[in-house]
Amino acid sequence: MKVLVINCGSSSLKYQVLDMTDETLLAKGLVERIGMDGSVINHTKTGQDKIVTEVPMKDHKDAIAQVLAAVQDKNHGVVKNMDEIGAVGHRVVHAGEMYAESVLITESVIQALEDCIELAPLHNPPNLLGIAACKELMPKIPMVAVFDTAFHQTMPPQSYLYALPYEYYEKYRVRRYGFHGTSHKYVAQKAAQMMSVNINDLKLITCHLGNGASVTAIKHGRVVDTSMGFTPLEGLVMGTRSGDLDPAIVNYIKEKEGLTDSQVNDVLNKKSGVLGISGVSSDFRDLETAVNDGNERAALALRIFAQKVRFYIGAYIAEMNGVDAIIFTAGVGENDISMREIICTDLGNLGIKLDPIKNKVRGHETKISTDDSKVQLLLIPTNEELMIARDTYSIARKNAR
Ligand code: ADP
Repeated sequence: MKVLVINCGSSSLKYQVLDMTDETLLAKGLVERIGMDGSVINHTKTGQDKIVTEVPMKDHKDAIAQVLAAVQDKNHGVVKNMDEIGAVGHRVVHAGEMYAESVLITESVIQALEDCIELAPLHNPPNLLGIAACKELMPKIPMVAVFDTAFHQTMPPQSYLYALPYEYYEKYRVRRYGFHGTSHKYVAQKAAQMMSVNINDLKLITCHLGNGASVTAIKHGRVVDTSMGFTPLEGLVMGTRSGDLDPAIVNYIKEKEGLTDSQVNDVLNKKSGVLGISGVSSDFRDLETAVNDGNERAALALRIFAQKVRFYIGAYIAEMNGVDAIIFTAGVGENDISMREIICTDLGNLGIKLDPIKNKVRGHETKISTDDSKVQLLLIPTNEELMIARDTYSIARKNAR
């Protein structure tokens, strides 16, 4: 069965077509500037050069129509017609407490996701637009929703509840949800495979370090805690997001700077993090260049980032009473050799020893700890699309029976 994976943002859309008989990637692409001037589709058939086509796309339905045209194209397409696509998998950011697993999309699922819009006002609406567009253009093809929040639903209440009046949880669903779940789950499963140990016998800490970043504690295959919270703002210092801070600071800054609610939200989400501290960039490559040029604040930003990752690793070792492996993934985790080194320095007392030579790698699955390290350190490139395709394939097959 061939599966189309769709990840819809507000003005962009990523897609992949995979053949699930052997999990090969047939084509992938990115649509940008949906609803704006200069909208463009970048399509790459595996083994061929990328094809970039500028074509007006006023909304997500136009964008999906272009994706369908690209995947059926005579020259760079991967299917003769849409009958060859057995199912479509959609990434959906927030399912609240509704779903702990991926689901076949029905009217009642769409309704439930609409109910979650107030929990993820930036993310769920474009995800739902993508679902609606696919439903209109491919009414007969089953669709599956795969949620960023689902994997984290196993957290116990002591991990997911904030110490606020309990009725805020009951009335407004204010709690920790956690994000990047598909990525944490993928690398955790991969780690168990690499270690040849059943995931149910492992204690893992997965560090998804990209533009957005989160750390998750996974005990015996179940999430017991994660650093992102009610929204993806909590936890680690990120590219442009503040991560944890004293909530009293928010009102204080608002008053001092005369900011509106939306401006203060903008500061916390878009102007903070390593960008805010360094004043240079949110991109770790730019920060490292600045450090090499002697920029002290860029160096400080990197130290603060690493400090927070170490803080969560320590906390999660305590929560799980130990750890068997720590996994690094996403843009920074997969590629930033020196950041992994700073994070893992001086953790010998916790049984964690990085091998500086093995660590000199980027972007492929490998062990980077020393042979005598009690805790294994693993580098595992994430693959959220494959995870979405797997769930979509398995649910669509069950549904067809
Ligand atoms: P997201 O999916 O959250 O947008 P990614 O996981 O793609 O983010 O990570 C993007 C980030 O990865 C970039 O902002 C950059 O900081 C970092 N990154 C990518 N390549 C490298 C590299 N070679 N060295 C250091 N950092 C890198």
